[in-house]
Amino acid sequence: MADVVLIETVPPPDVLDRVLRESSVVLVSAPAPARAVLVALALERGVPCVTALPIGLHDAAIRELEQCAQRTRAALVPWVSDVPLAQLARTASDRAVLAPALRERLTNGAPADALDPDPDWNVWSQRAHTADSRPAAFAALGLRTQPEPRWEQLTRVPQEMGLTLPPLETLAFERGLKPAVYLTLPRAEAERWATHFAGCAMASVDYDLHHDPVVDRRTRANRPDGHGTHRDLFIARDPAIVRQAKTIYEDPRGPSEHLATMGALLGYPSCCIAAFDALADRSNNTAIRHAAWRRTHALGFAFASVLNNLATHVLPWFPCTYACPQSTAHARAVLESLGESHPAEATTLTARIDRPVLYFDHARAIAFEHARRESAVAISYDRVTAVGGDSGAVTAAFCASTAALFDAARAFTFDTDAWTLERDGGAQIEIARERGAPGALYPFGV
Ligand SMILES: [Zn+2]
Repeated sequence: MADVVLIETVPPPDVLDRVLRESSVVLVSAPAPARAVLVALALERGVPCVTALPIGLHDAAIRELEQCAQRTRAALVPWVSDVPLAQLARTASDRAVLAPALRERLTNGAPADALDPDPDWNVWSQRAHTADSRPAAFAALGLRTQPEPRWEQLTRVPQEMGLTLPPLETLAFERGLKPAVYLTLPRAEAERWATHFAGCAMASVDYDLHHDPVVDRRTRANRPDGHGTHRDLFIARDPAIVRQAKTIYEDPRGPSEHLATMGALLGYPSCCIAAFDALADRSNNTAIRHAAWRRTHALGFAFASVLNNLATHVLPWFPCTYACPQSTAHARAVLESLGESHPAEATTLTARIDRPVLYFDHARAIAFEHARRESAVAISYDRVTAVGGDSGAVTAAFCASTAALFDAARAFTFDTDAWTLERDGGAQIEIARERGAPGALYPFGV
């Protein structure tokens, strides 16, 4: 185990992951927004001692990081800014000067729950696709209940129709809320938008898109102009921004090697770019949402409904947490603009994102209607609706099994290891969960 590691910029995800897993003391000296994310990541990964300059972070963020440190039993030591770095590193690496509680932590290691691995999404996707009955569809989520529910008596839950909205990113661009817009669309649609923004500068690249609808994983292969199923379209009023984006597109390493630059060109907050950059797998949107859930949860932040991206994205980027202040401000402004141009759609969207969601993956999620918070780990509700991306048989089996079981209950307790459903009249259904199974309550609106 390395004693002390200094992180000055966000390293590639695999490097960052290794550093955080192998270090006992991490010094973070990155710029303010990235620093908060790096500290949060270090605490989540179970680094025993994290030290960072608090200047530039909101008081609320510092308080939340401190609470997270308490929960994970890590030491969060304020950076002593007037001590030269090398000296600080020497001091921090001398275990003799560390507090006894910290020394104990260094000896005994991180608590097991701080090191929970991500679900193995490929395995869970495979299990979803091979389930061929209601009990199998329920078990494919790593769920088990005794006695077995009478599945045939449960009513299949309807799947909510997707909302037809104007592309919110173009709306934000037209209202001057962001400097450029980056559309990834079926080619014919992209051509219509190119005509719509004919007065602007733009760059495009055509590609074939392959989509796994269960884990919401997208992969792509670039194609010559005029070919391919989809087109990326980068539009800005300032031709210099488009030229810069075009250079990035033409780099054979692709846009993902230039996340910080691309994100900044598009007006994304640096904290969210840093968090996205730190992900091990950026092609799996389910895993990205799960990472933001974990971070929000670990930091004890309240989930902001305007950042609910489980079925409809108000933001064109993934927020670093479901409480990110910059993301929240932008999403509010977008919803306000939508309210001016499409009031009915804005009202429906606002109501939809303001519901708690039990999210397993892109194909399997339920929203709780008229939900009330009963405790830190319990809600009551009137009924549930299946939400999110439809993936045919997997979603249909989910609606007829797991969603139907939840719909027949009126209260849900979501302790980490076991869940409880309470039916009218007080009858309880205990649900055991396999270790590492997907599924978490995103407590929007409660
Ligand atoms: Zn952010």
